[in-house]
Amino acid sequence: MAALVVGHKNPDTDTIVSAIAVADLMSKRGVEAKAVAQGPAVPETLFVLDKFGLSQPEVVSGVAGQKVILVDHSDLAQAPADLKDAEVIAIVDHHKLGDVTTSSPLLMWVWPAGCTGTVIKAMYDFYGIEIPKNIAGGLLCAILSDTVIFKSPTTTEDDKKAVEALAKIAGVSDVQALGMEMFKVKSAVDGVPAKELVFRDYKDFDMNGKKVGIGQLEMIDISMLDKVKGDLAAEIAAVKADGRHSVFLLLTDIMKEGSEMLICSEDAGIVEKAFGVKGDKSVWLPKVMSRKKDVVPKFEAAFKG
Ligand code: MG
Ligand code: MG
Ligand code: MG
Repeated sequence: MAALVVGHKNPDTDTIVSAIAVADLMSKRGVEAKAVAQGPAVPETLFVLDKFGLSQPEVVSGVAGQKVILVDHSDLAQAPADLKDAEVIAIVDHHKLGDVTTSSPLLMWVWPAGCTGTVIKAMYDFYGIEIPKNIAGGLLCAILSDTVIFKSPTTTEDDKKAVEALAKIAGVSDVQALGMEMFKVKSAVDGVPAKELVFRDYKDFDMNGKKVGIGQLEMIDISMLDKVKGDLAAEIAAVKADGRHSVFLLLTDIMKEGSEMLICSEDAGIVEKAFGVKGDKSVWLPKVMSRKKDVVPKFEAAFKG
């Protein structure tokens, strides 16, 4: 039975492409593996898959009784609900280590890079396996997406080097143009229901015993969201009402390099405590680009203290 390679809930481009790439790499190393996903691909990812001729992984509802390889996460909250009934044989990730544990030794490639794609590029090199052209294109886009074309503070030199090498393999001459094309697709929100936008890139966290949801929309220009801001605020209130202490939605402007944060919380002072800026329903946070690096640690500290 093939091991299932699966990324996090509400899959993004890195999660989907990393599952495809690790399945390819493991299969070539003699471990039969198949890419799956916990949900359908978002428009940005569909653009990438289509551009490089990759197919969308099958959506699975559970992994019980199977061998599993986790990519782009190691948190139980982000993993399939029945992961405890599966055997995790490998983790490939670039986040802080989560709470997944195993009963047997496992393969782990966890680097503090800007993208899982960067770690996978290094894996291919380490094992001496050639990266297929289409997978190189997918990994390249995953890195450009996760690092917001190198603007995110999560970007490392390893990401830049990986992009340079992957672009050569994929035959991409203008990386910047490809990145902008991809973010234009990501920024097309006309006619998309507010609920879908809130959950497009959304994660729940346990912060000092409180359930906190943080969503993010990365846009070329956040004024494109002006018409739907009221709907987004109503939607995060509904998500909060569904058993959460707080829900925040980051509207990230990749050209202005900052984020407007929509706020819905039981604790009116939590945002000021975390960021030192007063905000009731929303606040502008200059230079805040990364949920992982700029937002989660600040909230974790604020919820603790
Ligand atoms: Mg991800
Ligand atoms: Mg990632
Ligand atoms: Mg992201």
